[in-house]
Amino acid sequence: MSVVAVANQKGGVGKTTTTVNLAAAAAAQGHRTLVLDADAQANATSALGAATSGAFLYDALLGQVELSDCIVPTDWPRLEVAPSSMDLVGAELELATRPDREYVLRGTLSGVADSYDLILVDCGPSLGLMTLNALAASDGVIAPVQCEYLALEGLSALLETIRRVQMHLNPGLQLLGVVATMYDGRTRLSQDVAAQLQSHISSMFDTIIPRSIRLSEAPSHQRPIIDYAPTSRGAEAYRELTEELLSRLSALPPSSLYRGGTLDGVSA
Ligand code: ADP
Ligand code: MG
Repeated sequence: MSVVAVANQKGGVGKTTTTVNLAAAAAAQGHRTLVLDADAQANATSALGAATSGAFLYDALLGQVELSDCIVPTDWPRLEVAPSSMDLVGAELELATRPDREYVLRGTLSGVADSYDLILVDCGPSLGLMTLNALAASDGVIAPVQCEYLALEGLSALLETIRRVQMHLNPGLQLLGVVATMYDGRTRLSQDVAAQLQSHISSMFDTIIPRSIRLSEAPSHQRPIIDYAPTSRGAEAYRELTEELLSRLSALPPSSLYRGGTLDGVSA
């Protein structure tokens, strides 16, 4: 079992698109997969058309329900969602005074860890407490970066946060890789940014996600790309990225975060 956070404090870089489509491709390959929607905007929840049970991640974080009580199935086998809601904005404040505030999500996840092979956490556009919770609860992190002007600038703040989390909260956290998104091969800018990323970032995924109308349409049909447009370039790219992710995960040491149901590293 692996927990992977999809994080970047910039909005609109492809975090949700990457989370949802990696999850769908992993589930299609036979992996029991959970999308944990850690963004109050709940875009991942709606992109998968997840009908909610009335309980949300927020309720589980505050200890009002078990995480398993809010998890809902999707139309696709082995793909489930822990849905988000606007309440999640409040969770940051409500958790802020707790001594274990960065480890609440890890504690919540430990109850369902045995039920999945892969848990993907869709982070919101900030490096606030919710994202710190996601990084403290994860074995690895994927950083989507849009092929646009100043892409590298935004990335350095994220990489610095990952280093801090490794030092203070979760020493086992691995940067699984940076993935270039919304690549438009016809523009000089996309080509330049992709080349810059490749020369500065050692953990770039080989797969580059193209800018594709199909990818942007799929959420409004509440379907992942491998179902909405299975032969599209976007679907092909996310299948390839899933292969790369699974192979990078298999090279990691076994997760110690949830082993035996104990909360490794949590003393509070
Ligand atoms: P984030 O979660 O980082 O805010 P999203 O995944 O929601 O970013 O993407 C932002 C917007 O860009 C959404 O409308 C999404 O449909 C669109 N989008 C994401 N990836 C692509 C892509 N490769 N090609 C075209 N549109 C994309
Ligand atoms: Mg998002």
